[in-house]
Amino acid sequence: MIPLRRNIDEMKGYVPGFQPKEQDYVKLNTNENPYPPSPAVIAAIQAEVGDSLRRYPEPASILAREEAGRLYGFDPSWIIMANGSDEVLNNLIRAFAGEGEEIAYVHPSYSYYATLAEIQGARVRTFGLTPDFRIQGLPERYGGKLFFLTTPNAPLGFTFPISFIEELAERCDGMLVVDEAYADFAGGNVLGLVRSHDNVVVTRTLSKSYSLAGMRLGLAIARPEVVEALDKIRDHYNLDRLAQVAAVAALRDQEYFRECVGKIRATREWFSAGLRDLGYLVIPSEANFVFAAPPDGNGGRLYQGLFDRKILVRHFTDPLLAHGLRISMGTREEMERTLEALREIG
Ligand SMILES: *Cc1c(COP(=O)(O)O)cnc(C)c1O
Repeated sequence: MIPLRRNIDEMKGYVPGFQPKEQDYVKLNTNENPYPPSPAVIAAIQAEVGDSLRRYPEPASILAREEAGRLYGFDPSWIIMANGSDEVLNNLIRAFAGEGEEIAYVHPSYSYYATLAEIQGARVRTFGLTPDFRIQGLPERYGGKLFFLTTPNAPLGFTFPISFIEELAERCDGMLVVDEAYADFAGGNVLGLVRSHDNVVVTRTLSKSYSLAGMRLGLAIARPEVVEALDKIRDHYNLDRLAQVAAVAALRDQEYFRECVGKIRATREWFSAGLRDLGYLVIPSEANFVFAAPPDGNGGRLYQGLFDRKILVRHFTDPLLAHGLRISMGTREEMERTLEALREIG
């Protein structure tokens, strides 16, 4: 027996979505972007590959923070870069929730918050959703240290109204972390609340809307005091040289970004309509995926039928989700093939 901390010994560990070795799948299971990163990103990475890799990177990722600051309208002191937004979610828990203290999130959403809390030894409380996607049983005041709100929600794709998020911030004694991993595909965002409410932090990722899941790039926008605290906790060289130049180039090429996001949104609307024609229940989505349920409510059967046709989607065994599938938006051609396969499976 090795002398592990008890919470580590007892935890299961997060299981990421399936990443097949073979390349011949239509891969619609982990919400990656079907389009390549901006050519400017590839060029910037290639230019950085060479002798400079001998040297440590700039520790504060200042150029990337300046670029993000220009884009979102914040001073760089309000922005922290992360090795994937997962890193900054982890550091938020480490900064705000001590052992035995409580964090909360909505179920269903991103269960990685629970894993991170377990590592820290923090307690986890989940709030369910009402049929009209309100938070169930939310107390007048929430006294926990952190509340994680995923909006657009994953895996369901709906967004919470901004007025509700503002009210939630006001009802939280601790920090409200708004995980906007999919906000670039939505009609709005809550960056304004970071300015107006001391306890609001917004996290973003370049994995989905900027096609950089493999680069591991995320960021948080928060008051400078929060950024300073997170700065103490992170690995001092959390972004390597390639990630830093990739972040700058990606955030700068807004034309390419808008084109890709526009195509994905258009595909999402077309694909959702196609599913509805097949009699599926489709939750209107503001993300780069849709959650849809077939008329017989058997998501597992559909998952298998698609898998047999080399199309990979996400099926959750959770009883709240087992009736449907979460399907990431691929290219228009990939979604045509998926719809055809669903028609065939029947
Ligand atoms: C994908 C995802 C993340 C993780 O983003 P990375 O930057 O790739 O670490 C965080 N939150 C939600 C809700 C996500 O879907």
